[in-house]
Amino acid sequence: MKIIAIGRNYIDHAKELNNPVPDTPVVFLKPDSSIIKKNKPFFLPLFSEEIHHEVEIVLKISRLGKNIASKFACRYFNEIGIGIDFTARDLQRNCMNKGLPWEIAKAFDGSAPLGKFVNVSKFRDVNNISFRLEINGKAVQQGNTKDMIFSPGEIIAYVSKFFTIKTGDLIFTGTPAGVGPVKKNDHLKAYIEDELLLDFFVK
Ligand code: ZN
Repeated sequence: MKIIAIGRNYIDHAKELNNPVPDTPVVFLKPDSSIIKKNKPFFLPLFSEEIHHEVEIVLKISRLGKNIASKFACRYFNEIGIGIDFTARDLQRNCMNKGLPWEIAKAFDGSAPLGKFVNVSKFRDVNNISFRLEINGKAVQQGNTKDMIFSPGEIIAYVSKFFTIKTGDLIFTGTPAGVGPVKKNDHLKAYIEDELLLDFFVK
């Protein structure tokens, strides 16, 4: 399986990092070794001094497809979850300054904690789902899929031009504003609507 991730998909987040608002989705990949499941702890890596949380809605792909039209894209995922796109912001800044790829900053081991998934049928409108991240009981990021620059359908249409999507693949759909550093012993809880789906510690 693969993880496809979208960067800068919320205007307020692009602005907080002084990045331009993109006219096509910003796409990168994470390997399966980035996944953390079952609320296991995230261990701060030694190679970074600045690991940022990015809470994101995650789509789980349920059928094989390529060159999918956005109007049919909703048929290609059947579950929605929430995850963290942990980012070594110091390494990413370095890569970007040199015009190099981001993988070491975005795709390292443990950089993709994943919560429980919910069947799409539970949601009235995929394009209007609220979600949030709390750290040590305080809400630090709050978002709604209606504020995405590229909707889930548009993302699937775009990425499937380049990559065949397969059952079990995951798509991280971008983070809203409020990203920031995590530190040892932080307690992260991520919710879709008011359901707690991901709950783990930084170690
Ligand atoms: Zn992200």
